[in-house]
Amino acid sequence: MIPLAIPNVSGKEGEYLRECVDSNFVSSVGPFVERFEEAVAKASGAQFAAATTSGTSGLHLALIAVGVRRDDLVILPSFTFIASANAITHSGATPWLFDVEARSWTLDPAQVKECLAAQTERHGGELIHRKSRRRVGAIMPVYTLGMPADMDAFRSISEEFRLPLVADAAAALGARYRGRNLGKLADLTVFSFNGNKTITCGGGGCVVGEQKRLLQRIQHLSTQARSEPRCNHDEVGFNYRMTNLQAAVGCAQLERLEELVLAKRGIAKLYNQAFMGMAGVGFLPEVTYAESACWFSGITINKPDLKDVSLLCQQMREQGIEGRTFWKPIHLQEPYSESPFTSFDVTERFWFRILTLPCSTNLTEKDQRKVIAVVSEIVTKSSRGILG
Ligand SMILES: *Cc1c(COP(=O)(O)O)cnc(C)c1O
Repeated sequence: MIPLAIPNVSGKEGEYLRECVDSNFVSSVGPFVERFEEAVAKASGAQFAAATTSGTSGLHLALIAVGVRRDDLVILPSFTFIASANAITHSGATPWLFDVEARSWTLDPAQVKECLAAQTERHGGELIHRKSRRRVGAIMPVYTLGMPADMDAFRSISEEFRLPLVADAAAALGARYRGRNLGKLADLTVFSFNGNKTITCGGGGCVVGEQKRLLQRIQHLSTQARSEPRCNHDEVGFNYRMTNLQAAVGCAQLERLEELVLAKRGIAKLYNQAFMGMAGVGFLPEVTYAESACWFSGITINKPDLKDVSLLCQQMREQGIEGRTFWKPIHLQEPYSESPFTSFDVTERFWFRILTLPCSTNLTEKDQRKVIAVVSEIVTKSSRGILG
């Protein structure tokens, strides 16, 4: 079976883990955690970083740090992984769901700006959503598939409406926005190092930013808000700090960031070339303003009457190739079916058409050619109506 996306831990991961075990530093106390934070800060071009147990816990703490509180609304694209919405819910707030831009599949700044102008008003220094009387707490763009949102536009919205920006950059480490690195684009930027991301710690997350106070607060909250003397805790904290074991793997992975991101981009490029011009096939977005980290590769199936790609996935599986559907939008998920929303014209046109294809960084060209041959055949049959 050619798997969809598996970790590539063929560098110094084993050596560094051995160091943890030999030194007995396996918990959150240990030198790799700080080393990892420094490496992520450097790799993303930010000054400060705080390592967490996961991307989700990093997003949760980032929202708290920028001041999101119970009953707030947080602006989020519906087309994202459920973890983005869950982090908002964990902070006591509610996602306010928006559409994405067709060109990038990232949060649509024009729609956000228009809705904020039409539906909110300022009250005692706070931005209030008129109909629900709820405060708007933050904007959370998501860097879909490793592609940055249009962050200059969001920066200007953030200034105009005085709203903090928390970027869910879970799988985007290595991407560029207008030639710039990601670390300074939002107030806080959150990366995931889950097993299916390009760079992994097994599980883990990291928040980066330019405001020392915010990152210090996140570190504080992640270790049960412990203060001096040692058994005191000055607020309700969390057990969200990354362990030395996770960080050891992460440090080894980050040494290969460039190599692994280049591998991802190479795989995406080969698929795009191979499927170019094939009837009924579309591509994942590419934009001129950014260079995606190409977390996942795939195509879209543009048959007019397509319901979903599950039949194609089944056909692929029978020939030893894993392919999958991608994110189902948040507004179609049971826990969020009642969330406030705008409209989803773009999202509803494409989300179910996405077919992700094998894109492990150690995928060989031979295996990728096999994937291309099998998928081409299946898609051609399918577009002739022989299959689903
Ligand atoms: C992976 C991912 C997350 C969650 O990260 P975890 O480390 O798995 O908690 C959040 N948002 C997006 C967009 C992701 O892709």
